[in-house]
Amino acid sequence: MIEDKNQKRTSLDQLGEFGLIDHLTKDFTISQKSTIKGIGDDAAILDYKDKKTAISTDLLVEGVHFDLAYMPLKHLGYKAAMVNLSDIYSMNAVATQLTVSVAVSNRFPLEALEELYAGIELATKSYNVDLIGGDTTSSKTGLLISITALGAVAEKDITYRSGAKPNDLLVVSGDLGGAYMGLQVLERENEVFKVNPNSQPDLEPYSYIIERQLKPEARKDIVEILKKLEVKPTSMIDISDGLSSEILHLCKESSVGCDLYEDKIPLDPTVIAACEEFKMDSTLVALSGGEDYELLFTIDQKDFDKIKGNPNLTVIGHMTDKSQGAHLVTRGETKIPLKAQGWNSFEE
Ligand code: ADP
Ligand code: MG
Repeated sequence: MIEDKNQKRTSLDQLGEFGLIDHLTKDFTISQKSTIKGIGDDAAILDYKDKKTAISTDLLVEGVHFDLAYMPLKHLGYKAAMVNLSDIYSMNAVATQLTVSVAVSNRFPLEALEELYAGIELATKSYNVDLIGGDTTSSKTGLLISITALGAVAEKDITYRSGAKPNDLLVVSGDLGGAYMGLQVLERENEVFKVNPNSQPDLEPYSYIIERQLKPEARKDIVEILKKLEVKPTSMIDISDGLSSEILHLCKESSVGCDLYEDKIPLDPTVIAACEEFKMDSTLVALSGGEDYELLFTIDQKDFDKIKGNPNLTVIGHMTDKSQGAHLVTRGETKIPLKAQGWNSFEE
C-alpha cells in the first residue's frame, strides 16, 4: 500500500467495538423486501416467501488471498463481495443480502476500514443487496474478512453442478485469463517499486487485466439474460479457480465427460498480448489462472439458437459420456486430458 503520510489515522481503540460497527455501517440502506430486520439486533430476520434460500460464505486472509501492497482496501471490499455474489448467481439465484465479518489488527486505522466498507457499500448498491450483519473482532497479525451472501431462487430455477447431460453444450460468459495476467503485472510492478520507489509505471496498456484482478464483477447480468432468453442451464458453476478445474467439477458432479475446444476459449486481446510479454501460454492461463468470476454452464442443444450470437456468451465445447473423460481438443486437433491445474502437455 502506498501510504500517504498526510492521511488522517484514527486509532480503532478510540471508537470501541460498538462505535466502530455503527460508524462503518451507518450509511448502508435496506432495499430488499425480504429483509425484515437488518443490522442492530442479535440476528437478522429474512423472509423469502415461496422461494428457496441460497447461502455461500468465503473467508479471505491477508497474505494468502490478497496482498495489500497492490490491493487497495476499497477494491478488496468490493472484490470480497463479488466473490460471494458470484457463488449465489452460479445457483441461478438473485442475490439479496450480505453479512461481513472482519478481524483487524491495530496496525489498521479507522480510515482503512472506512475504505474497505466503501468498497462493500459500492457493491451492495451496484448489485442491490442489503448488508444485514456481521461480526467485528481483533486479530494479532493481518486482516481477515469473511463474507456470507444470501439469495433467493424458485425451486424450479436452481442450477446445481450436477445436472449436465452428454451432448449438452458447454458455455462460458465473458473472457478468461485476465485476472491472472493482471496479477502478474501487479506483482511485477510491486517488485520494481521495492527497488525503485520513485518509478512511475505506465499501467495504461494493462488497464483491462488489472481491473479484472482488482475489480471483478459478478455476472448478475448473465443470470438475467438467461432468464430473459428462457434458457435454464442444466448445470452451472462460477470460475474462481480456473476453467479446467471448474469443468472437472461439472463433469464429476454430473457424471459426464467433456470435450473443450482450445480455439473456442474466449481471450481478450490484452490477455494474449500480456501472455506473449510474460512468455506464458494463453490457453494454460485461461485453464488454470482463476479469479475471473465468469459463469460456466451447460445447456441443452435445443437452446442453442436462443444464445447464438450473444456477445456475452461463448460455446466452448460439449459434454460427452462419462467413459470418454474430460479433454482439451487442441488447435492441432489432439486430445489432452484436462487436469485440475491446466493440463500436463509434457506427459504426452
Ligand atoms: P453480538 O454481540 O450479538 O454478536 P454485535 O455487537 O457483534 O452483536 O453486533 C451488533 C450488530 O452489528 C449485529 O446486527 C451484527 O450483525 C452487526 N455487525 C457486527 N459487526 C459487523 C460488521 N463488521 N459489519 C456489519 N455488521 C456488523
Ligand atoms: Mg458479534
